[in-house]
Amino acid sequence: MPDCDLRAALGGMRGVVRQNVPLAPLTHLRIGGPADWFVEPYAEEDVAVLVRACRELDLPLRALGGGSNIVVADSGVRGVVVHLGNLNRIVRDGHRITAGAGVTLPSLLRATKEVGLAGLERLTGIPAMVGGAVAMNAGTRDGETFDLLVSLTVVDAAGALEVRGPDRFAATYRDGRLQGAIAVQATFVLEPDDPMAIFERFSASLKKRNATQPVSQRSVGCVFRNPTGDAAGRLIEAAGCKTLRHGALEVSGLHANYIVNHGGGTAADFVALMREVQRRVRDDSGVQLEPEVKFWGE
Ligand SMILES: Cc1cc2nc3c(=O)[nH]c(=O)nc-3n(C[C@H](O)[C@H](O)[C@H](O)COP(=O)(O)OP(=O)(O)OC[C@H]3O[C@@H](n4cnc5c(N)ncnc54)[C@H](O)[C@@H]3O)c2cc1C
Repeated sequence: MPDCDLRAALGGMRGVVRQNVPLAPLTHLRIGGPADWFVEPYAEEDVAVLVRACRELDLPLRALGGGSNIVVADSGVRGVVVHLGNLNRIVRDGHRITAGAGVTLPSLLRATKEVGLAGLERLTGIPAMVGGAVAMNAGTRDGETFDLLVSLTVVDAAGALEVRGPDRFAATYRDGRLQGAIAVQATFVLEPDDPMAIFERFSASLKKRNATQPVSQRSVGCVFRNPTGDAAGRLIEAAGCKTLRHGALEVSGLHANYIVNHGGGTAADFVALMREVQRRVRDDSGVQLEPEVKFWGE
């Protein structure tokens, strides 16, 4: 692919286009090689231009949010990575809050808490951007992203901007089922409540999370999906995998469904450790654990 092809196809797209951009610093795990192309569009319509250009050039396109649920291959990813950090507006209309895909959940939570709008506390401690939270239908025992969503603006796989209402939502457990679309904006409907009561619920969730999960270490959160009626962490612990290590990566001693990077780990180490955990759990309980984390690249 000649260097100029993507830039030429992007025509009047507003945004920053760079080549060979290291992805590790943009992921929570701090692992992985570069993206061939890295594009930061300024607005929704620019995302649409990018999608159409990638289609035209047959270039793979991946959306990067907070990078908290991906493992990037050590050799990086071919094609284009789009980062939506510029879509960072929050607009309030009564009990409705509309946020760009690039707004971080912690900042959205802070903003809604301050104006006495409740609901997002269920997502306390998830280091996602709104777009990533929607794509993964991020959630906790207290609820999921789609519970609060009333409208979603996406750029569909053909590059058209589209507003989807609840009749078009198809989200399931940890999967927003966007059908190849890129989420650019989401509207949540929240409940009015006393800011102090919201703050107390938020603080209690955070305290519980800090005590039970290795939140200050580099990870992707839970590596595996919970099998129906069970918890992946319980199965991994029962199989004796806590503190199992491969290179700089280790199954957390605090929460067995987390793999933490002590620094300098590789994607190859992560995959090797993950496979070993799967093997041990299968041998121990007969359950085949399925990854929740997304893998980018070969
Ligand atoms: C410490 C820690 C705690 C966590 N706790 C939780 C938890 O309690 N509950 C939970 O559900 N998850 C949790 N996670 C995992 C992670 O935060 C969620 O999966 C989150 O939804 C990922 O959002 P992100 O913005 O970081 O997306 P990324 O990791 O950047 O991307 C994840 C996936 O979403 C896609 N994506 C990102 N943005 C868009 C977009 N705009 N449009 C379309 N697709 C997009 C990506 O292509 C990729 O497939 C945790 C992770 C960490 C590190």
